[in-house]
Amino acid sequence: MQNNNIYDFIGVGVGPFNLGLACLTEPIKELNGIFLDQIQEFSWHPGLLIEDATLQIPILADLVTLADPTSPYSFLNYLKEKGDIYRFYIKENLTILRSEYSDYCDWALQKLSTIRLEHRVDEIIYQKNEDCYQVSGQNLKNKQPFKFLTKKLILGTGTQPNMPDFIKQDSDNIQHSAYYLNYKDDFINKKSITIIGSGQSAAEIFYDLLMEIDQHEYALNWITRSPRFYPLEYSKLTLEMTSPDYVDYFFSLPAEKKDTLIQKQDNLYKGINRTLINDIFDLLYRKNLNHSLPVKIITNSALTDVSNLSENLFKLNFQHQELEQNFEVNSEAVILATGYSYHLPKFIEPLRQHLLWDKKDRLDVQRNYSVDQKKNSVFIQNIGLYSHGIATPDLGMSAYRNSYIIREITGKDYYPIEKRIAFQNFFPNEAFK
Ligand SMILES: Cc1cc2nc3c(=O)[nH]c(=O)nc-3n(C[C@H](O)[C@H](O)[C@H](O)COP(=O)(O)OP(=O)(O)OC[C@H]3O[C@@H](n4cnc5c(N)ncnc54)[C@H](O)[C@@H]3O)c2cc1C
Repeated sequence: MQNNNIYDFIGVGVGPFNLGLACLTEPIKELNGIFLDQIQEFSWHPGLLIEDATLQIPILADLVTLADPTSPYSFLNYLKEKGDIYRFYIKENLTILRSEYSDYCDWALQKLSTIRLEHRVDEIIYQKNEDCYQVSGQNLKNKQPFKFLTKKLILGTGTQPNMPDFIKQDSDNIQHSAYYLNYKDDFINKKSITIIGSGQSAAEIFYDLLMEIDQHEYALNWITRSPRFYPLEYSKLTLEMTSPDYVDYFFSLPAEKKDTLIQKQDNLYKGINRTLINDIFDLLYRKNLNHSLPVKIITNSALTDVSNLSENLFKLNFQHQELEQNFEVNSEAVILATGYSYHLPKFIEPLRQHLLWDKKDRLDVQRNYSVDQKKNSVFIQNIGLYSHGIATPDLGMSAYRNSYIIREITGKDYYPIEKRIAFQNFFPNEAFK
């Protein structure tokens, strides 16, 4: 019998993954759930909403379409309601601008009855008597504490910017790429700017600053530890590795093998859009016709330390990985495009005994995305590169994972879950059975 004081589920965090889940659970009337987020309003990675930046996934990978093409929360319905669908059609290019995606997510969020913004979750405890979870925190709007009870949890608190340990400076002039646009107006007035890293964010920022180099006349350095500027691999048979089939395969491998394998797969989920690499080269070429550019692009070089030469000037130490030489660069501004990683939210600590951990003390994510001892009451989004592989952070697999989680929490196939989509076989024994 359902106790009306206990929710069926609570989602913590309303990034695109839990937002997709909210869209897909909204029509399921027998499910009584809510989603909590501390934010005041939705904005998707606001520090990187550079005007011409696009999503790295196609339009079909919106919040819902791959699970339910008839959903009212599709990107196409967003365009239709805004009156922009014909413009999008005439554009004849099915990629979505990142700022457009952010606005689309906000549009969907505004339509949902289950979202509670300005709710920061501080603690979750398991209540054995009731066999449920107590989620508590603060309502940031009225400053009042809240407490909710729920049978299931879906944690979607996302990843956080990585800063190298040796960065001790607390300066506006040395920032993670996640905050680029917050500081761009200051950066462009510096004499020198150095970008570290060679993922998509680093490339977008380099391109953006290169566009404006003649107006502001800064020296621009782009330095990465990687041996080259890898394009994101986007060929179709490789794309089949973001499929339920490959998740099954990757999940079946021994943990040690998975850890080695994922390190070799960077360019399958972290690389730069091939078109952007080409655009960067072409822009360098065009600008260099007029005058020699104050631009240095260097690979193979790991940043090892940053110190202050003065209040406004940093000394950056690098080690070239192949030449085995050290070198220094002085720069007035530093942008660290050093990626993101998962940090266990503090609110999870009281649940530690109740959750599953692997030998490396990481959450032991089960095939059904649960992480609790019972294997069916705490689910997690976007964690488990080490368990489920490269599909984990991919927005294109969000509809699949959300359909799967909905089946796990309801016991019903509300959204059909494809078992196989790939033409290739990842398990040869099955192929030749
Ligand atoms: C610039 C950028 C571009 C990207 N582009 C793509 C792309 O094109 N294609 C692709 O497949 N992937 C892309 N990704 C990767 C990934 O899909 C995104 O990072 C995505 O936003 C992850 O969504 P999420 O739901 O896991 O979490 P997030 O978007 O990080 O959201 C987590 C939410 O949890 C909330 N939260 C955290 N702690 C608490 C708490 N204690 N209480 C309440 N709320 C809390 C936060 O406020 C936040 O709103 C991109 C990543 C970045 C950084």
